Amino acid sequence: MPHKKIAMEHDKKIALVAHDNKKRDLVEWAKFNRDLLAHHEVYATGTTGLILEKELGFLIHKLQSGPLGGDQQIGAKIVDAEIDFLIFFWDPLEPQPHDPDVKALLRMAVVWNIPIACNRASADFMISSPLMDGEYDRLVPDYEDIRRRPILTDE
Ligand code: PGA
Repeated sequence: MPHKKIAMEHDKKIALVAHDNKKRDLVEWAKFNRDLLAHHEVYATGTTGLILEKELGFLIHKLQSGPLGGDQQIGAKIVDAEIDFLIFFWDPLEPQPHDPDVKALLRMAVVWNIPIACNRASADFMISSPLMDGEYDRLVPDYEDIRRRPILTDE
């Protein structure tokens, strides 16, 4: 399948999301990496964003709370190339009312080939990658076959 390139600028658009039992982890991680995060544009689901803004002291673009559609808003931004990468500390030990949205968000991240980190170790490796500080061409399958797949064929 042919690919298209989507440019990721030097300053990246990062989405941060954490389920309730993982919010403390995300806050600790974000505070430790505050200076690295500060020059990027940070988005978050509602409650995560409120906490992070208070703890980090810089503007976070806050969407709806996750269970109220925030995960879907982030997914839509990934589709529109408005989010470059995702740190999503989801909770593997507790069912969530918006489980389908969680799955959909993770799926969109893979469909559009954006980097995702779902735990602290992955987030550490990602934020310290040399690729964070430069421009990067993200390869996305061109998906033209899917858009033009035959649905109604004349007999
Ligand atoms: P929240 O949503 O930041 O509003 O708590 C996170 C989520 O559950 O996806």
